[in-house]
Amino acid sequence: MKQFEILQQGKPGGEGVIMKYRTRRGTDIYCLGAPLFYDSGGDWNLGPSWCYVVTGDNLTLIDTGQFDKFDVLTDLLGQAGFSVKDIKRVIISHGHEDHDGNLPEFMAAAGAELWAHFAFENMAAYHEDIHDGAAHPEFPGSCRTCLLPDKFNDNCRPYHRRRSRVKATLRIKEGEPSPDSRFRFLLTPGHSPDSLCAIFEDEVVFSGDTLLASITPHPSLILEYYCNRRILPEGYGDDNSAYGLIAYIRSLDKLQKQCADTELLLPGHRLYEKGKPNYLKPAERAAEILRFHVERCGNILRILDGRVLDLDQISIELFEPRLRKGFGKYLSHREVMSHLELMALHGDIAWAGGGPEFKSRATGSDNYKNFFGKYTRV
Ligand SMILES: [Zn+2]
Repeated sequence: MKQFEILQQGKPGGEGVIMKYRTRRGTDIYCLGAPLFYDSGGDWNLGPSWCYVVTGDNLTLIDTGQFDKFDVLTDLLGQAGFSVKDIKRVIISHGHEDHDGNLPEFMAAAGAELWAHFAFENMAAYHEDIHDGAAHPEFPGSCRTCLLPDKFNDNCRPYHRRRSRVKATLRIKEGEPSPDSRFRFLLTPGHSPDSLCAIFEDEVVFSGDTLLASITPHPSLILEYYCNRRILPEGYGDDNSAYGLIAYIRSLDKLQKQCADTELLLPGHRLYEKGKPNYLKPAERAAEILRFHVERCGNILRILDGRVLDLDQISIELFEPRLRKGFGKYLSHREVMSHLELMALHGDIAWAGGGPEFKSRATGSDNYKNFFGKYTRV
């Protein structure tokens, strides 16, 4: 395995770190640890968002860091030896504000091409006339189901307005040949409907938040599909191809099969931790995360054990208190819900009464194992 060359030291979690990786074909990839600034009120910590500069023809930037931090991005690029105007192409892994932040400012300053998932613009656009049960029909597609308190989403509103005006040059679709043959794209919905992974020179996988090192990405919810199905582009597919844990597991399976020969994972978070880089093989990491979700389903059924519990009651037993502080509580509910949705579809849990608490009970079956058995050993 080739090694990263550390070009700039930063914090032990990777903030401010700049590393270089040279592929077997001799292409240099610069890895930039762009710090995140969140007051989450909790203990969870994603570490920086990793942005990547791929050298060669058409200098390419993968992801643009957190919103409203254009100066942070330009400084990091400068420290790596690049200016904004050098960048000819931007590829966005998915439309979340810790990865596509600064995109409008960046596009205006660089005049680069933008490549993104074919649903990216739909998710960035506003669809205020479509309600369909969305908590915030006035927010852009990516945030219509946001459950975070106003204190948090107040900050991103002006950014999202600017983002909605950005136009993609290439709308990436599954199986269509890439104009740059060094890149191959896999559409990998699950964390978000517009998630993609970029395989570079059959050696490196840029995974955004679809595969992370050391933490497991949050799956979206099937519930969100019903709020958003009319805003997705035509031909997108049904509920389980767009949102939720089933979509995510299928994306993991795609990665474990189609990245079997790739060497190195370059994820959206946790590339570097405790003062050193993480070297992970993409297919192995996909398989690990798959197994993690099998276990999590089993753990939730064990917690239910003859009782009727709501999302909060399950998440109290599933997560350490520090992970449930502040916004962590909302994230823990979503995490539990994504597994309950999968198990409800397979008959392993039944919803117990309506209401926003989503009370459930175990039915005694473990059919979820048959579902996962198609993709991993259970
Ligand atoms: Zn992220």
